[in-house]
Amino acid sequence: MQSMPSDQHAILVGVRNALTTALRPDPELTISQWSDQYRVLSRVSAGEPGRWRTLRTPFLREIMDCLSPSSPYSRVVFMKPAQIGGSEVLLNMLGYIIHYAPGPTMLVEPTVELAKRFSRQRIASLIENTSVLAQRVSDPRERDSGNTILAKEFPAGVLVVTGANSSVGLRSMPARFLLMDEVDAYPPSASTGAAGTEEGDPVDLAIRRTGTFANRQIAMISTPTIAEVSRIEQAYLESDQRKYYVPCPHCCAFQILRWSGVKWPDRKPGAALYECERCHGPIADHHKPAMLARGEWRAEAAGDGDTAGFWLNGLYSPWTMWGQLAKDFLRARKSPERMQTFTNTVLAETFQQAGATKTDASELLARREPYRADEILPVGIVLITAGADLQADRIELEIVGWGRDEESWSLAYVVLPGDPAQRELWDMLDQTLLLTFEHPCGRELKIAAACVDSGFHQPTVQQFCNERAHRRVYPIKGMAGQRPIWPRMHGHSADRRPLWMVGVDAAKEALYARLKISEPGPGFCHFPITDQYDLGYFEQLTAETCRVRYSKGFAHREWTKKAGARNEALDARNYAYAALQSLVAGGFRLNKQAQQLEAMLAAKAAGDDVQRQQAPQPARDRGGRQPWIEPQHWFNRRSE
Ligand SMILES: [Zn+2]
Repeated sequence: MQSMPSDQHAILVGVRNALTTALRPDPELTISQWSDQYRVLSRVSAGEPGRWRTLRTPFLREIMDCLSPSSPYSRVVFMKPAQIGGSEVLLNMLGYIIHYAPGPTMLVEPTVELAKRFSRQRIASLIENTSVLAQRVSDPRERDSGNTILAKEFPAGVLVVTGANSSVGLRSMPARFLLMDEVDAYPPSASTGAAGTEEGDPVDLAIRRTGTFANRQIAMISTPTIAEVSRIEQAYLESDQRKYYVPCPHCCAFQILRWSGVKWPDRKPGAALYECERCHGPIADHHKPAMLARGEWRAEAAGDGDTAGFWLNGLYSPWTMWGQLAKDFLRARKSPERMQTFTNTVLAETFQQAGATKTDASELLARREPYRADEILPVGIVLITAGADLQADRIELEIVGWGRDEESWSLAYVVLPGDPAQRELWDMLDQTLLLTFEHPCGRELKIAAACVDSGFHQPTVQQFCNERAHRRVYPIKGMAGQRPIWPRMHGHSADRRPLWMVGVDAAKEALYARLKISEPGPGFCHFPITDQYDLGYFEQLTAETCRVRYSKGFAHREWTKKAGARNEALDARNYAYAALQSLVAGGFRLNKQAQQLEAMLAAKAAGDDVQRQQAPQPARDRGGRQPWIEPQHWFNRRSE
């Protein structure tokens, strides 16, 4: 036999031992019973140190027991919120294997780095604090202990901990027990390292290693991520789809806890309660422990007969109050990015990405509102920016008003015809950028910042912008890929002049999420009823869709538009948004500004009481539509 590296040798010895003992009948104790009897939680890492008690999180019992060797299921899927005890399920299973059902075991974390961290922090603590395990796994500090961070030997078995990004790790040995943690964070493909060649789906690779064991046991656990690419959702849909039903403390009706059941009085999210779906009785936080204890998993699908699937959201957490969740929800609602985190980590649901489904242009057309930029502005606007897209024979420009939580009002969409090589076109752009707008508080608002596309005619654009740098007119270039909307530092053009690289993908993602918001408030996009905002405008604005594509082992979001479709309106909006972000990067805060303007408005209202009857303010409420006079195109009028 040829010599081989000692750790590989250790693994082989472990595997051989495991194969011989795998023939022994498995013990009767289930994983939950084992955990209650033996598992001790450390003082350092656990919120509740001391003996493990399944009673505390009763919904984990059936999940653990389906993972036990005596269960008829070979695969267990757990689609879960964050902080519900998913890792504890895996640790209890590991403890059980080491003590009670030794065999070759593989634990896969999303990356090798995370695998090392999980081993150092969680597995080390599991072994140290549970005496029957400490006896079986020798101290890693001893020489020849067969115990390293990524490989731990124990009598008649071995545990290999690896990352889903390492095909070498995933191929290292056959495994009877396969524990896959946070599968939605796995890369789409494992790589071999230096060469970077793709090796295929890490979940498939890992499952292939269990093929030789008829009595294999596979655990798949994750918080879900994005719809359509979520592995855990896919696996759950193939399972028998169990949900946890708990009884109402008033009418005893068994029900699933859903987000729609959490109710709170206006402006008092902290006082939230859960409303029973049958008797509508209020269910308080203190009812939860008893409800959880009496809860039961009910399968809602036939499944493949081999996979037990469990889904649970954060409403079931014994450590989280309804009021806290309501507060989290109100915060999350302010931005699509935070809403994704809330949807994934609290509701344990996949998030539909904004760009994945197209916003309907005709719906946007239908919801335009009667306000005019040449009259007093809608009251919510506190700041104005502009974005200009340069074309061979024209400049297309949007002027956007911004309010609290980035609610936006499109104020004008202007097409300035002309040759970019001629001065006239730039004079027109300059005049447009100098427009002022009347705020209801009595102040005039100027365009606070503007971005001008320098895709071509770069020297001209840069000269124009440099001369107006004091007005925050920036020469920019839209860049695809993962980058912030506004760069932390500007780049340079070929002739060493400053040029700002704008992350248009992030801007599109934000806009498309916002176009889906249907009620005025945070993020909502208002458009006025004027001829410029016709169906063609909204088709341009919604011209692109986002797809997830895989290359070099990583998921890339890629924005595409139909061949021949125009998208200048989308570019102009992205640049106007980038202009807002340039101010935010400089410390500007929309909500603070909104507060100040509201105070000025209140002061003015107090002084204006007498005049109010003669000069009515434009209605803020969409519901109270005013009779509409056919608009004049104020920007044409001014540029004539
Ligand atoms: Zn009830």
